[in-house]
Amino acid sequence: MMSSDHALITRARTAFQSAYVPYSEYRVGAAVETADGSVYTGCNIENANYSNSLHAEEVAVAAAIQDGQDTFKRIAVASAAQDGVTPCGMCRQTLAEFADGSLKILCDEGGGNVKTYTLTELLPKTISEETLKDANDTMHWLWNHYQCLINATSCDSRSKYYLLSLELDLVRVITIRIILMEASQPRWQMFRQ
Ligand SMILES: [Zn+2]
Repeated sequence: MMSSDHALITRARTAFQSAYVPYSEYRVGAAVETADGSVYTGCNIENANYSNSLHAEEVAVAAAIQDGQDTFKRIAVASAAQDGVTPCGMCRQTLAEFADGSLKILCDEGGGNVKTYTLTELLPKTISEETLKDANDTMHWLWNHYQCLINATSCDSRSKYYLLSLELDLVRVITIRIILMEASQPRWQMFRQ
């Protein structure tokens, strides 16, 4: 592990001490390094309704974006449990908005051990602006993205809500396709004229 990696992990560890986690008591901290070497940190912030809970990674990303920094080099994630926690599926997609697949994600395994992933390893099929332009593949990428998230290790209530929204998107796309097929080859053609 490079010394700078260690420094970033230390920032993430410091961040989880600020976590607001009265329900899960699972403290997470994140530290994102931007292109100019600035570091922004975040901790998880829970809510009694669960769905409003914020993840450490998205709090860190929000802090960077608010400061005008939208190019990320690395992100470190640490939990008080030192269990090698990785960003959940939802946060992986959030990171993909601002970084390419080579983004380094450092995960604190405790005992001085850090597991390093690339974003591509954790989320091979991201939704990007380019993906959205290819309307013909809409159903395909939705399905792939859904599969990747299903396979994601962390799946809390908010991630499940995100999965549900993707499921609804899939249903919507399939429905639109059926409508378009009906429009091009209407079964009611025989009743016309
Ligand atoms: Zn997350």
